[in-house]
Amino acid sequence: METALMPAEDANPGSPTLALTGNPNSGKTTLFNALTGARQHVGNYPGVTVETKEGVCNHNGRQVRVVDLPGTYSLTAYSMEEVVTRDFLIRRRPDVVVDVVDASNLERNLYLTVQLMEMGVPLVLCLNMVDAARKRGIEVDAERLSARLGAEVIPTVARTGKGKEALLDAALRKAREGAGGPPLVISYGNDIDEAIAAMEALISSRAFLAGSGPARWIALKYLEEDGRILAEGDAADPALSASLKEEVRKVSVHLARTLDTEPEALISDQRYGFIHALLREGVVRREHDQNRLYVSDRIDRFLTHRLFGPLVMLAVVMALYRFMFTYSARPVAWMEGIFSWLGRLASAHLPDGVLRSLVISGLIDGVGGVMSFVPLILLMFFGIAILEDSGYLARVAYMLDRVFRIFGLHGNSVISYIVAGGIAGGCAVPGVLAARTLRSPRERLATLLTAPFMNCGAKLPVFALLIAAFFAEHREEVMFTITLIAWTGALLAARLFRSTVIRGPATPFVMELPPYRVPTLRGLLIHTWERTWQYIKKAGTVILAIAIILWAMMTFPALSDSQVGRFESERAEILASATTEKKAELEAVDRAQAEAGLRNSLAGRIGVALERVTRWAGFDWRTNVALLGGFAAKEVVVSTLGTAYSLGEVNPEQGGGLAERLAANPGWNRVVAWSMIVFTIFYAPCFVAVVCIAREAGSWKWGAFSVLFNTAVAFGLAVAVYQVGTLLGAG
Ligand code: GDP
Ligand code: MG
Repeated sequence: METALMPAEDANPGSPTLALTGNPNSGKTTLFNALTGARQHVGNYPGVTVETKEGVCNHNGRQVRVVDLPGTYSLTAYSMEEVVTRDFLIRRRPDVVVDVVDASNLERNLYLTVQLMEMGVPLVLCLNMVDAARKRGIEVDAERLSARLGAEVIPTVARTGKGKEALLDAALRKAREGAGGPPLVISYGNDIDEAIAAMEALISSRAFLAGSGPARWIALKYLEEDGRILAEGDAADPALSASLKEEVRKVSVHLARTLDTEPEALISDQRYGFIHALLREGVVRREHDQNRLYVSDRIDRFLTHRLFGPLVMLAVVMALYRFMFTYSARPVAWMEGIFSWLGRLASAHLPDGVLRSLVISGLIDGVGGVMSFVPLILLMFFGIAILEDSGYLARVAYMLDRVFRIFGLHGNSVISYIVAGGIAGGCAVPGVLAARTLRSPRERLATLLTAPFMNCGAKLPVFALLIAAFFAEHREEVMFTITLIAWTGALLAARLFRSTVIRGPATPFVMELPPYRVPTLRGLLIHTWERTWQYIKKAGTVILAIAIILWAMMTFPALSDSQVGRFESERAEILASATTEKKAELEAVDRAQAEAGLRNSLAGRIGVALERVTRWAGFDWRTNVALLGGFAAKEVVVSTLGTAYSLGEVNPEQGGGLAERLAANPGWNRVVAWSMIVFTIFYAPCFVAVVCIAREAGSWKWGAFSVLFNTAVAFGLAVAVYQVGTLLGAG
């Protein structure tokens, strides 16, 4: 007799574990929050949360542990989410599994439910979003569905918490039963059924992989050629595993010959057939009103229209840039004012020497350069939050999918790009992580190698600085051009990868568009604040530490006594001479000494040594120092430029903003600015992102590849920009 998955023996008897499963966007996280009262990010597109979240809820005086599992459509082993979810169900054996399904999209959602039932987990169905379904004219008869399915079905509205008490009652009832019912048995047609029967007998007789699931389920996994189960089986009992594979081979050959199909496809067809049958006879009633399109669909007719859609998208992006630049100009100036005031304060009260230099050039100019951009970053995150929470971002992904196919990427890659900063100011790290939703390892690799080309929040200050210094009249246009360059570069690189180092076929893509929603102010503020705070925290910790290290590298070794002596004697000469320009001449000497000091420092020496190569791209040694810092974190580019140009200056407190200093510097012009912009877009991802890429790609090789490849491409492009620009006299 078949054994169902039993809860683990060591489970805490006092507090049962309730696991939430379901398709992405079915409302799991919302339900989790309603149950546990936790506050966390709710993404509008699939797959942003891959990890599981745990919380506790109290029900009738009993404690229940609630786990929010990643959203999945299936229980194969193709994506990270599926593997995480499956491993949790098998290893942790929750006392009850609550499968959250979207009532307006039952057919698709039940595909996962059916597989959970085949695994024999103790199951309760949460029929969520009944409010949204009703609005679309869809009515589900929960009782009838429950009777046919053999599991309790509880209608809920997770957003308002409606039905959650009934859901907990049902879940705890199920948990008390102590085990799932017998696993669901679906007929997969004669050929497969026979093969399953033979395999099941073999599996049961030797308790093969007994800990991983019911015998029939293991047999199905062999038929689906599930990589993980096959590997487990090979390790556990190679001989038995081989005979199971032989069964699979036989039925595969037979199916190919008779039906021109393979077991996996047939299994999935039959599951849908089962669901289809389940939903007939009044379980789902639709109000057929041909004249009334749902509001969302009607809006989408325009917003995702082949022609207008992309135009609207471009307008929205431009509007976002205008919004963030226009409203941040003043607060950014205030912030700069505050930091230059701090600089004056420090220079007035600290004695001349190393400490003063550290505080002014290292801390205030370094970190201040990064912090001044907080208002800009804040407004940008606010804008992005509106696009995301309203559901528009999902449309952007949907529209760009068509383009992405051409470049060997996948619709879900768009999400990675956007999270990495495709529109503005994301971060490559979550962008790389978001690539986990991609099933094909090749598309995944291509995505995570190219997502770091997007303009993350840390590159933004570099662009903002250069725009302020050289393109103040064309802020949005330049920002928009930068975005276009990044996307073009990323897509071309992806195409290149997909036709060379990571060649292979594309996987099909279905993307659902969640209905439009009016974002809540509270949600917007939470999202904006969470992300801005991350930026500030980074400036206060990592960036601060790097700023201090780089300051030390830019200060030591100090000039030798004899070198200092030479400047001293020059000063003495000026003082003794009869010239009337004493003050100006003395300042010139001071400047020369500061410059000599920076050049003599460790960082200066490296920068100078690199100058021989980088002058092809128009970078002087100070820029080199700053760009080197960017390997650690891109924010450091601006802070190091701040430090480098304030060390080179005699009176940092009178130097004005960094942008003004750059604009006034003879070594800088628009061509150099463009060269640096292009280099910044493309060169090596920051250190943390490289670690993530290596981890996600499963090898350090890819981390090293992205550092070398990106930097080489960036340098090549920067040289091209600088040389051509200079030739055309655009400087
Ligand atoms: P998850 O991907 O399964 O974690 O889904 P989320 O919890 O992130 O929910 C996706 C979206 O559906 C969010 O915008 C929720 O506010 C919304 N949502 C969740 N539950 C309901 C519900 O019962 N009714 C309605 N109308 N919207 C819901
Ligand atoms: Mg979620």
